[in-house]
Amino acid sequence: MTFSFVFECVRQIWTFRGRFALLAMALLMEAAYYLGSPLLYKFIFDEGITQGQKDVLIWAVMVLAGLLALQSLATFAQERLAGVLGMKVMNRLRGRLHDKLQQFPPPLVAARPQGDLIHLFGADVAALEQALVRAVPPLLLHSLIIGASLVLLLGINWILFLITMAVLPMAVLVPKLFANRASQWEGNHQQAKARTSGFIQESLATLPVIRLFHLGRRRERDFAAHLRRLDETGARAYLFGGLVARTAILGTGVTQLVVVSAGAVLAVNGQMTAGLLIAFIGLLMGIAEAVGMLTTAIPLMITAQQAHARIIAFLDEEVPSQESDDAIPVDNLRGGIVFDDVRFSYDSEHTTLDGLDFAIQPGSRVALVGPSGCGKSTALSLLMRFAQPQAGQVLLDGVPIARIAEPSLRANVAVVLQNALLFNATIRDNILAGRPEASEDDIIAAARAAGIHDAILAKPQGYDTLVSPVSGALSGGERQRIAVARALIRRAPILLLDEATSALDPASEQVVNDSVTALAPACTVVAVTHRLASVVDYDQILVLQDGHLVESGRHDDLVAQGGLYTQLWTRQQGMATAAPTDGQSLITPDRLALIPFLSECSRQTLEELSRLFVASHFAEGQHVFHQGDPGEHFYVIARGCVQVVVPDDDGREQVVNTLRDGDFFGEIALLRDVPRTASIVAWADTWCLSLSSQQFLRIMQTEPDLHARVLAAVRAVVGDE
Ligand code: ADP
Repeated sequence: MTFSFVFECVRQIWTFRGRFALLAMALLMEAAYYLGSPLLYKFIFDEGITQGQKDVLIWAVMVLAGLLALQSLATFAQERLAGVLGMKVMNRLRGRLHDKLQQFPPPLVAARPQGDLIHLFGADVAALEQALVRAVPPLLLHSLIIGASLVLLLGINWILFLITMAVLPMAVLVPKLFANRASQWEGNHQQAKARTSGFIQESLATLPVIRLFHLGRRRERDFAAHLRRLDETGARAYLFGGLVARTAILGTGVTQLVVVSAGAVLAVNGQMTAGLLIAFIGLLMGIAEAVGMLTTAIPLMITAQQAHARIIAFLDEEVPSQESDDAIPVDNLRGGIVFDDVRFSYDSEHTTLDGLDFAIQPGSRVALVGPSGCGKSTALSLLMRFAQPQAGQVLLDGVPIARIAEPSLRANVAVVLQNALLFNATIRDNILAGRPEASEDDIIAAARAAGIHDAILAKPQGYDTLVSPVSGALSGGERQRIAVARALIRRAPILLLDEATSALDPASEQVVNDSVTALAPACTVVAVTHRLASVVDYDQILVLQDGHLVESGRHDDLVAQGGLYTQLWTRQQGMATAAPTDGQSLITPDRLALIPFLSECSRQTLEELSRLFVASHFAEGQHVFHQGDPGEHFYVIARGCVQVVVPDDDGREQVVNTLRDGDFFGEIALLRDVPRTASIVAWADTWCLSLSSQQFLRIMQTEPDLHARVLAAVRAVVGDE
């Protein structure tokens, strides 16, 4: 613990001057009792008892009683004021921390270890609060008592004072030897606690994966390592913290022993009275008590100092500015968007957007499409001003986005993200978050436009239903439609949709798409989507590949061009996107021929294969298969979205890929009977078409040459491990 930290605490309390003055008075009154009562002993013993002066005895006892009464009052006032001041200082700090967090671009917050942030807002803030309320006032009081007592000791007898000073430093210096190590180990212990709580938090979040991948043992082992670290750091932090306290008490005891002996000699030699010796010893005992009190306050201060350092480091962290100094408010944008030769990379090695150039007319509906990883979401992120391009610029109505003041930028842009991200509040309040001043009619109109009004009314508590992530009162699709309603109610001139309808069933998707269409011409819509069928009537489709714009135009023109868009489009055609209603094939032979390792098959074989596909439906969160399951089927996604999940070295769930409409997986099952190397989990309501490996091989065996070629093609796709 350093003086600068104590000073900082006092400085913080000092900002509330009125209450600080009252607290100081209460502390002074308490100190008066501790300092005054030993001095009164001198009169009680030397004049009252030894010389038999009764009146001295009476007033001394009365003063003592008065001081005690004042001290009791002061103690009560001190408790009250310390609590009030502590909460005021801490709530101001909590406010600053919360504001700071709001300043960070969301991707930067997501990239931080979440356990550290939670520890900062939880344990660190709590430690500082404890110190301000429980440690700072005693620290001030007892430092005052010690300082004033030393002055009084000097006044009583300078020889005894010097003898005391010769031994007293031991009582201070020996504990100091341990204080630095106590501080260091306390820091390590706090860090170990943060990591452990992060690990527990992760265990809670990934519980299904731990169970399904049978990772319990491994997690136990990893947790045991965290516990060992807690053991080691905790034991040492407590040991050194305790040693600081114990050695201080020991040092004071030794000092007292020396003083009593020397004082007795001085009294016997007539150099001081017995009453003065008793007063001297009384003050010294007061010092010992004060040191004892300090040693309970000091560990709290040590913990708080570490916490304070982390809090200040966070508050001082530079937030990359998304806004230029000359930013201006822009009212009512028309919705024109330009990407002017935009270059962006997340790191120095890869360029994610490389000279991206396009213009979007106000009031038009534009789709950003392209293979996974081509930079669609990154472009949208720049449009949300979550990041800044390294070169080129993004302009809204001709104004560089960095020059638009934050409030007006946000007022002009509404967003629906892939993940609904709703608040733990009622459905009404969640929709109102889009426009807090909206009326009940506006809420209902937005909910209707998002195709969720009837579903809300069907719930027992209607719009007052609580949207809690754990209650399960709402399905993923319903949550997503509430997020759509929240964006629609904003009536912003620009609406950004990031895979906004991926999780919706076809009927709901249609309702949302119709509502988006109805927004024209007042609103420019930019949609990042994988599902091309949902944007065929858009005014413009921008096709990205490797961070470049490679094609752009309307759907029909792009299909006619026969380029990348045509490939993407055809991959999503020729598949039934719901349960079969008659005996028809679920996938066309033409569509099958687009699968690289089936392109070798004859028309007849493709036709036979197409009849063997069966449809399966997977609800959001349901596993298509688990890692380790026998590989028996090959799947094509007719509609929906799945995630490929594998545990990493630490047993943590890792999403290694996201597959959507037209993508396929599990082809290794057609090669040979090996267990699945990853799990596949439906991220949204998903229809898959699957082919059993047995039936596939039976058909292949009728064409031995073809069989060999197909197998070679499968090997080329999946590798032959
Ligand atoms: P899309 O939306 O088209 O699938 P993204 O814009 O998400 O593509 O990603 C483009 C590229 O940038 C990918 O290679 C991806 O791995 C990379 N990328 C995306 N987000 C980050 C990030 N936060 N840090 C580093 N690389 C990223």
